[in-house]
Amino acid sequence: MDRALKRLERVLELEKQQGYQNKAVVGGIRQFAVFWVSQARDEATDEGDLALAEQISQVLMDYNQLPGTQARAKAIDSLLTHLERRQARRPAATPAAGPAKPAEPPPPAPPPKTKTPTPAPAPVPVQQTMAEEARESDEEQEEFEEDFEEETPHDGRGELDEEVEPDTPRVPADPGALAKPVTTLKGVGQKIAEKLNKLDVETIWELLYLFPRRYDDYTLLKPISKLQYGEQVTVIGTIWQTKVRRTRTNQPIIESIINDGTGSVQATWFNQPWLAEQLPAGMQIVLSGKVEMFLGRLVFNSPEWEPLELEPLRTRRIVPIYPLTEGLTAAKMRELMQRAVKEWSTRVPDPLPVDIRKGRRLYSLPHAIQQMHFPDSHESMRRARQRLAYDELFLLQLGVQRQRQDWQSHNGAPLTIEQEQFAVFLNALPFQLTGAQQRVIDEIRADVGRNRPMNRLLQGDVGSGKTIVAAAAMVTAAWAGAQAALMAPTEILAEQHYRGLCSLLEPLGLKVALLTGSTPSAERQAIYSGLADGSIQIVIGTHALIQPVVAFRRLGVAIIDEQHRFGVDQRAALRQKGPSDNGDAISPHLLVMSATPIPRTLALSLYGDLDLSSLDEMPPGRQEIKTRWLRASERERAYNFIRRQTAEGRQAFIIYPLVEESDMIDARAAVEEYERLSREVFPDRRVGLVHGRLRADEKESAMRAFVNHETDMLVATSVIEVGVDVPNSSVIVIEGADRFGLAQLHQFRGRVGRGQHQSYCILIAEDVSADAEQRLAALEATNDGFVLAERDLELRGPGEFFGRRQSGLPELRLASLLHDSDVLIMAQEDAAAIFADDPQLERPEHQYLRKSLEDFWEGAADVS
Ligand code: ADP
Ligand code: MG
Repeated sequence: MDRALKRLERVLELEKQQGYQNKAVVGGIRQFAVFWVSQARDEATDEGDLALAEQISQVLMDYNQLPGTQARAKAIDSLLTHLERRQARRPAATPAAGPAKPAEPPPPAPPPKTKTPTPAPAPVPVQQTMAEEARESDEEQEEFEEDFEEETPHDGRGELDEEVEPDTPRVPADPGALAKPVTTLKGVGQKIAEKLNKLDVETIWELLYLFPRRYDDYTLLKPISKLQYGEQVTVIGTIWQTKVRRTRTNQPIIESIINDGTGSVQATWFNQPWLAEQLPAGMQIVLSGKVEMFLGRLVFNSPEWEPLELEPLRTRRIVPIYPLTEGLTAAKMRELMQRAVKEWSTRVPDPLPVDIRKGRRLYSLPHAIQQMHFPDSHESMRRARQRLAYDELFLLQLGVQRQRQDWQSHNGAPLTIEQEQFAVFLNALPFQLTGAQQRVIDEIRADVGRNRPMNRLLQGDVGSGKTIVAAAAMVTAAWAGAQAALMAPTEILAEQHYRGLCSLLEPLGLKVALLTGSTPSAERQAIYSGLADGSIQIVIGTHALIQPVVAFRRLGVAIIDEQHRFGVDQRAALRQKGPSDNGDAISPHLLVMSATPIPRTLALSLYGDLDLSSLDEMPPGRQEIKTRWLRASERERAYNFIRRQTAEGRQAFIIYPLVEESDMIDARAAVEEYERLSREVFPDRRVGLVHGRLRADEKESAMRAFVNHETDMLVATSVIEVGVDVPNSSVIVIEGADRFGLAQLHQFRGRVGRGQHQSYCILIAEDVSADAEQRLAALEATNDGFVLAERDLELRGPGEFFGRRQSGLPELRLASLLHDSDVLIMAQEDAAAIFADDPQLERPEHQYLRKSLEDFWEGAADVS
């Protein structure tokens, strides 16, 4: 390895002579280190050599990050000293002379420079001597070593405040200036500004927050002789020759040969004739790209390139890939961004209180923005993203907790009834409650007995028996002298609840009404006045319930079924129908029910610490629904199966897919299918039909016929999706299953398996997309709604999982509610702490935080 060491020594000497400017070699010491170490490794003859090479390269790699000349001088000098000593220990190098190197006799050690005399270092492992030497001189050196052992060694910049480029002058945070249009930036004219507008970027601030879609990692630097097919690498070399060729169609091809002393490689660019001038022979160049093969040789096709003397922007580093828009090239975008980040990122004000930032060891905002765009390493990229995700989740949590607090400042009217009276209700039930139902009912009765309004989410998989829990809450309200309302997302579902609850509750002396969009006008007037004077105690309905004209005498309990189908504003509207007889700001107790189990992380962020109940136990006798996915060509098998099941007295659903986002077209498709099925396929079965375009009474009678087993099969569009309960049905066939979402398919499937009979779900889909295939496979694999919800969230992301409007959440650009649960928990704790301390964010140090909070939540809804 002596040649490599000699070379190193020359470079180090030169660097020393030049005053440690990092200029001894073109590209700097760090770049040199990459080449040097690979050559040194080649020449190494034993483990000791390898370790030494590694050790030296460590020092060199970090050289440019060292804080100041003194530190650099120390690093270089200690290396030189080591080299000298090593030299002294061995005989003069005889290049390529003898055969194998003989085992080295321990050479006489030169007198150690230090106060502590040490024995001859030869048998001591090389690294150890290096380390000792590095430390032995003085304490400052030690400190410097410790700095190196910081968490992000290659990043070199310490934590927190040292993160800003050391030689960039500190600029005070300046939100005003950041709001300036992008044209403020040098090189951005009206034309580019317009293109940026297409990416929703108008201000400098927005530009800084336009983060890369992904990155190309070109940090792997290699000598050309070591290139391997298929790897993504960077090489540095000199252009030997550049030629222009033309294809048969006269397209120019630029070919350059690049040599780095270890070998040559050809790089080719297509259709860029101007490169011929930009890539002259003799130029020092950096290429980054994927190593490809052409006619048996390794080549680069259209690699990224930069002159070596330029600061790395698209080679030799982790290169950001931005979303692009017509006419704005990747190169231009990067250049723009580099300028923006350099000039402006330091002026971005940091809303996060310093103690939180330090406590959580988060990057400062300017540093996070820099590292997000131009990361120094994977670790710094990860931490930058973490910091930015933290911001979103922190603001999200502050908002959620603020809303929760508002909500809790309302008063509620306590509703209690005696246990004996409640037992009357229990005795009227046709079955025993499950343990889970009992527990949740107890929780709810305790909640509504307090003078704080209940705010509870009841989760229970399809078929777990949520309706009865709702009934228990409504009965309690009614018997305690108040009223209760249950809002369902579809008329079919409202009607079904109404039928079920009427037959259960009217015998107990309660007056129950149904109010939907299609309630006839006369009846509607009667219901309005019954609700206003309190003679109707329980009302079931659709959105019709939240019309302004609806007023209650005393709404004690408001329940929302299938809550994910409602927007947050609708939820709020129902809540506002609260008790009005005494004029106080008294809110009703609110129970929202959902069959779409919300993963814990999501529930946490959606509802802060909203009370959660779950029905984690199915009513007895349920069996797993067997699910099969068939191709369209196998449809006949599904029909045969239905024939057999209906012959045994069971009933079947056939769900017809959404043809378009249009009731009309869906309805027509369903009607045609209905006619084909009833005439041609099942002439000897009674077939019913429901779709969204039927009048309410038509729907009602079709449903009733099916419930009463006057029809054997029901052809339906997605109106049937939620809640419908016909325990005798045992088969559901879902046509065009790939067009539905996972949650929706699970809901459909939940229409069967509600009684004692083994039930089946048949999915029919052909030529499905990869995504759809995953959904269908997931559905075949499990009946567990919770597992499916997690899967769904993974496949779709939370935005679509609920829809932004429905979740009421502000948009999250970087944070993932699913994957950043650790950050979410931090953010939640920190938000709670701030809240406890300064709920209105009135402290001067929280001013900017308050503004950020408002901006973040602007346009989002009340989610409490
Ligand atoms: P979901 O949670 O999907 O809304 P439902 O409330 O519609 O479920 O209940 C599903 C079916 O289970 C209904 O037929 C209901 O009568 C029945 N059910 C509910 N609770 C019980 C129970 N404890 N024992 C037996 N059957 C029950
Ligand atoms: Mg239900």
